[in-house]
Amino acid sequence: MLNLNLEELQQQQTPFYAYNLNLLRQTLQASKQEADKYNYHVHYALKANANAPVLDAMREFGFGADCVSGNEIKAAIENGFAPQDVVFAGVGKSDAEINYALEQDIFCFNCESSHELEVLNELAEKKGRVARIALRINPNVNANTHKYITTGLEENKFGINAWELESVLEQLKELKHLELIGIHFHIGSQITDLTVFKNLCTRVNEFQEWFLARNIQLQHINVGGGLGVDYYHPEQQPIPDFEAYFGLFNQFLELRPGQEVHFELGRALVAQCGTLISKVLYIKNGQNTNFAILDAGMTELIRPALYQSYHKIENLTSEKAEARYDVVGPICESSDCFGKAVILPETQRGDLIAIWSAGAYGEVMASAYNLRDKAKAVYL
Ligand SMILES: *Cc1c(COP(=O)(O)O)cnc(C)c1O
Repeated sequence: MLNLNLEELQQQQTPFYAYNLNLLRQTLQASKQEADKYNYHVHYALKANANAPVLDAMREFGFGADCVSGNEIKAAIENGFAPQDVVFAGVGKSDAEINYALEQDIFCFNCESSHELEVLNELAEKKGRVARIALRINPNVNANTHKYITTGLEENKFGINAWELESVLEQLKELKHLELIGIHFHIGSQITDLTVFKNLCTRVNEFQEWFLARNIQLQHINVGGGLGVDYYHPEQQPIPDFEAYFGLFNQFLELRPGQEVHFELGRALVAQCGTLISKVLYIKNGQNTNFAILDAGMTELIRPALYQSYHKIENLTSEKAEARYDVVGPICESSDCFGKAVILPETQRGDLIAIWSAGAYGEVMASAYNLRDKAKAVYL
């Protein structure tokens, strides 16, 4: 399913992102089918990849949009998402972003602090509007993932802590331009152990009881995103197990009549459909290590440098005997390394290298560091 056409690749100038829109569609189809079984609403987290053809596909399959900036809301709306399908999260929403979202009358602001509630109320009042909000609650659930992509622990900056909720409810009584419609959770990313989501369900159930005890009806339960993908074997499991994922929420989440459940998936929908294609510039033999120096670097895919994350690396053009390389980029940083001691067929200048699973948090995190040109996207 991941097969790329070598001739097609060789015509392009490296480095570039190769997107497989067929795989994207199959992934969306699988996700949609499983979510529909339970009438779940899935919002695509634009921050994973906001390229127009990706957004087109999301819209085609009926996904909503999960945004974390004003420009993401703008991108969603300009690409045809209906404002009533847009949710807006983030610990640091600026006044301009909030005003834009208010003008667009988006579905829901996922609010992350008591101070934010105060400011949002003030800005909504100025516009003579009422903003629909969900409280983003920090459930103190460990996502068992890299510490930089864990967001649901009390030590993280995200969300409102349980011990603040009582005073937030008091506060909300005074904020006449906010309408509380739900609660929101997002505990982290690249979560591959489904028991983590079971733990989340348990916490959500407890919070539901807490609100019910205070006679507050919540229509919307948003459990965020975070479902991981298999970076080690992208070819064996290119489509995540959405059946198990949504089925687990159906089994463990306790709902009241009329409640709607929302998800915010990013990585799981787009990671495997993108591959970073690069050319080997130089081979350099070190003391104990041979380096394969690529024309792509952390400017095109920063995940290995930022989160020590693994990406499968493949030499697409050599079939020689195996050797061991540190596969590095050209950027003036020692962390600009895609993989250490990678086993590849003997590699030489001009070989084409694929770095798999780069569809999520790849191109969107690209930078111009070292005044690099932006790598282009190619749709195959
Ligand atoms: C990043 C983010 C998501 C998507 O996370 P994935 O791990 O890519 O699924 C969902 N919700 C919020 C609030 C986020 O910040």
